[in-house]
Amino acid sequence: MAERYDTIIVGAGIAGLGVAAILAKEGGLKVLVVDRYPKFGGRLISYVDYPNKGWCVDTGLHLIELGEKSCCNELNSRVGKEVRWAPFSETVDIWNGGKFINIAELVPLTKDEKRSFRAILQKIASITDHEIEAWDCRSLEEWLIENVPQQPVRDLFADFGMIMTTIPSTIDMAAGEVLYIARENLCKTRQLLQASYPLKGTEGITCGLVEVIKENGGEIKLNCEAEEIVIEDRKVVGVRIRAKEHIYQEDYRIFETETKYADRVVCAVPIYHLSRIIDFDPATSPLPRWWIKRISDIRHEVTALVGYMIGLSEPIIDPKKRSFFTALKTRHSGFPFQALPASNFSPDVAPEGKQLIHTDVVCEHPDVADKFKRERILNLMWEDIKEMFPGVEENLEWRLPYYVDGCDGLARKPGLVGNFKPGPKAPGIPNLYFAGDTYLGRGLATNGAARSAMLCADLILETLR
Ligand SMILES: Cc1cc2nc3c(=O)[nH]c(=O)nc-3n(C[C@H](O)[C@H](O)[C@H](O)COP(=O)(O)OP(=O)(O)OC[C@H]3O[C@@H](n4cnc5c(N)ncnc54)[C@H](O)[C@@H]3O)c2cc1C
Repeated sequence: MAERYDTIIVGAGIAGLGVAAILAKEGGLKVLVVDRYPKFGGRLISYVDYPNKGWCVDTGLHLIELGEKSCCNELNSRVGKEVRWAPFSETVDIWNGGKFINIAELVPLTKDEKRSFRAILQKIASITDHEIEAWDCRSLEEWLIENVPQQPVRDLFADFGMIMTTIPSTIDMAAGEVLYIARENLCKTRQLLQASYPLKGTEGITCGLVEVIKENGGEIKLNCEAEEIVIEDRKVVGVRIRAKEHIYQEDYRIFETETKYADRVVCAVPIYHLSRIIDFDPATSPLPRWWIKRISDIRHEVTALVGYMIGLSEPIIDPKKRSFFTALKTRHSGFPFQALPASNFSPDVAPEGKQLIHTDVVCEHPDVADKFKRERILNLMWEDIKEMFPGVEENLEWRLPYYVDGCDGLARKPGLVGNFKPGPKAPGIPNLYFAGDTYLGRGLATNGAARSAMLCADLILETLR
């Protein structure tokens, strides 16, 4: 008899690990998590002693909204694990074309405008879920026109909106999600946006979940790619996983597979990877046509990043300064820019006396889909970095270029947030579930993924009662 699991979870990112940890600990279920990568964590992987001894490099720039008060912290606490966080970032420093200044200085407000700004913050802090939902399909621009009379106050909100959504223009930002993020931050920290960095890198958010899975008899198989979710008579029976290495090159190979059987399956992979493991041909797919069409229509509605992780032999940013650096549009690349001196938050991610800076520019799928285009962006971005951070080249020990197509869930645009996101249950297939940052679950990226994991796990636990 083939080995059977209660639940197989495809994907060992925070969402998959979160679902598995809750089901193993609270439901006593026998879980198997599979991931195609040799390391768990998905987009929250940290590489220790890379590229040289003493450095710890994440998959790109990460700053986690709300830190110890975040949803991903709540997920860890729920299964009895503690995430250790650096203190919140102190300032957002924004590039004004010549130097970095505090975000408040970029848009100076008169006394009257400051009063109006505070009144609007109070209004947001008490906004209801119902009101937020009504704004999910409308833009921040419309909300500002209806609710904020003064232009300078609108401009200040627009800057915060860009940081919350990584979308440059207010007409493209979903008002509902911005209002939700702002409300959570105001209620929990009395600030419009607070964020922190986990000590020892982003792996600090997921390693406790791995421990919980193992402590409760669960299994995690890495280097194990799911090839297909096996569905028979509109019920999932298991997952076909890649069985053997293959001698042919990638362009020519079809893998032999073996099937692992389970009572239910959770796909904790982003929607843009679903068609690799579920038949998306409308003529043959077990899933309804409307759902396949919806997923196919929105799968490229994601933001993309191109950036450098930078290791410096000497700090060029004051090591005591816990700031997030941003530019609404850089001179050379023309994209919104972000930088985080990660070692200022968690000194153990760089060797003593050195500095680790994470950087990226925010773009969209078509900008990074072509390798020549992304290399052009990368070169222009380096010109921007040299301008914004004098001394970077002189102190450069190493730099690691990278790009990500689909960095933080669905783009937070009107009609793609809140209840517009795909739900945690597959329509018409009762034992197939979804979790991750591209599915239902509010909050900034990692928090959206953590919320989605809890929603999905609760739904499964309910079926067991
Ligand atoms: C460069 C970068 C910067 C970011 N910055 C921030 C930030 O500042 N703040 C923030 O909150 N969030 C940020 N994010 C987003 C955050 O990392 C994600 O929202 C979160 O990690 C998503 O978790 P997930 O579990 O939904 O998906 P993932 O972490 O992508 O997990 C999915 C897993 O599924 C696996 N998988 C896929 N297909 C298969 C298959 N066929 N078989 C087996 N396994 C499979 C993948 O290997 C992966 O491990 C950033 C992301 C990136 C990449």
